[in-house]
Parts: sequence; C-alpha cells; structure tokens
Amino acid sequence: MNNHCGLCGKELTSIDTMLGENKLSDGNIICNSCLEKASAMNEELLSDLHRFSLKDIENLLQNGEITQEETVQENIAENLPSVADSEHNVLSKDLYKKRLKEIKKQLESLRANLSLFTKGEIKELPYVLDLDEKILAIIDAQFAKTTDAGILLVTPKRIISVSKAMFSPAKVNEFLNDNILEVSFVKNFVSPNIRIHTKEKTVEFESFFNKDYAEDFYHFISKIYNKEATKASSPEQNTVSESVLEQLEKLGQLRENGILTEEEFTSQKKKLLEKL
Ligand SMILES: [Zn+2]
Repeated sequence: MNNHCGLCGKELTSIDTMLGENKLSDGNIICNSCLEKASAMNEELLSDLHRFSLKDIENLLQNGEITQEETVQENIAENLPSVADSEHNVLSKDLYKKRLKEIKKQLESLRANLSLFTKGEIKELPYVLDLDEKILAIIDAQFAKTTDAGILLVTPKRIISVSKAMFSPAKVNEFLNDNILEVSFVKNFVSPNIRIHTKEKTVEFESFFNKDYAEDFYHFISKIYNKEATKASSPEQNTVSESVLEQLEKLGQLRENGILTEEEFTSQKKKLLEKL
C-alpha cells in the first residue's frame, strides 16, 4: 500500500491527496511538503511531476543548490564578450578620419549621452560599422557580470556591443536583426539591465551610467524588436477568427437546410466558438 510519502516516510493525509496524489513516474507518492521543497528548486515538478522518479527528486534535493544555480545561469548564457578580428574593416588613414568625423556627428545629432569612459570604444566604431551604417541609438553598457565597460548601439541591421580596454584589442559582439527574437528590460537597484534574446542565447548588459537614458534606449529598441512579434502573431490570430466565422456561417446554412438538427447545430457552434 502506498500511503506513505516516498521521501520522508510520513503517512499521507487527506490534504496530501486532496488535489490528486503527487504520483511519481515510478509509482511512488510524495507528501505536499516534500513536493513543495522539491518544486522550490525546480518548478517543472509542479506541472510534470509524473515525469520524475523518486531518485530524480532525491538527487535534486541533494544537489539542489548546484542544480538550481546551473539552471539560472543557463538562461543568461556564456556572457563573455569575444574578441573581434575577421570582421574588422580595413581603412586608410584618411577614410578612418572621415568616418570617425561622420560618426561623431551622428552621435551629436542623437544627443548621445555617453560617459567619458567610452572614448576608446567610439574610436573603434569606424572599424566596426559599415561605411553606410548609421547609429540609431547608443548607450554606455557592459556585459553583465564582467568588468568590461563599453557601449551598446543599434543600427538598422543589428545591435552591437563594443568594449575596448586600453592596450588590448576591442571586443565586439554583434546581434543581427534576423537573429534577435526580442529584447527585455530588468529594473534593478544597482543598474537597469537590457537583455537581448537571440535564437541561441540570451545576453545581458548592465547600464550604470544613466538609468533614465538606459530606459529610453530600451524603449527605442523594444519598438524595433518587440513589434515584430506582435505583428507576426496578430494576422495569424485574425485568420483563425475569420475561418471560424466562415464555418459558423456554413453551420447556420446547414441548420436552415435541415441537414443539422438544432442540437447538432448548438454543439458544433459551441466547439467553433471555443476556437475564437
Ligand atoms: Zn514527504
């Protein structure tokens, strides 16, 4: 008889089974307080308990903290900036000067509010940006959990982070528009963080220098990258609604023609309306 918690051995009470038994993949049942403990470490347990065995849960509770830390860091993946080399533009001295001038002009007209620490990064931009690539917005930002200060900027085709420490090559990371799923913003006492969610990973940037400016920057990129998602989903939604309406119309005709009884009509109609 399975009336004891497989983990702590306590007798199961009616409260433990009130919303259904907490049954595991191996037939063991656990009490609510054990489930609570385990699900605090892994929320998946709440929806998919039947996929886990007693052994899985024992392991989770034993190595809980480590497992938990791993899952958290999985989300904000490999955050370390890489060093750019191959994408580096080769420019003659004159062209470099000309481009730097143009870029500084763009920053002026954007009223870019940058700290003095970004001078080195700005000087890298002629190498990083294409000759006709315009800056739409820019902020002081660094990869979360690193000490590399830098800038984050958006152009019509990508988001780029540049980080340049003295006497070392610039670290450049680009996130092409096609690869960006969405962007998000995390408010935080210390600094607002901007997250870029790409198909492969999520990268996070901290922006200490000017919190309001960081929020403005986020609103700007959110209009670019988060609009796509709503655009893509709403027409689809409309098509579903339209076809349901069409089917309702047909259903009405079938009833009028006496092909469907009133009862059949009502139950079919109910099904269709649920799809809306
Ligand atoms: Zn228990």
